[in-house]
Amino acid sequence: MECLWCNAPDVEESEKKDCYWIMPDGKRSIKLLQVPALNCPGCGVYVSDHMNQKVDEALSIHDLSEYPDEFTYDQLLLAPVKQLFNWK
Ligand SMILES: [Zn+2]
Repeated sequence: MECLWCNAPDVEESEKKDCYWIMPDGKRSIKLLQVPALNCPGCGVYVSDHMNQKVDEALSIHDLSEYPDEFTYDQLLLAPVKQLFNWK
């Protein structure tokens, strides 16, 4: 596929990157390991906007209160989903 930034044609999707992330509520910062990333010969390894959105979404959907401040992207997806609605 093409690089989103420089349009280099031979970007690889097989890379993983460790990223620091601020939780959507802004109260906690975490280190997210092995986030699926792109590897461009010109730009280096980076996380696409699409993946950024997916991570943000996952961080707000899943309950990470029991998690340490460092975990992998796969663990994030395995975290329990928050009870979004309270039927009282
Ligand atoms: Zn590039």
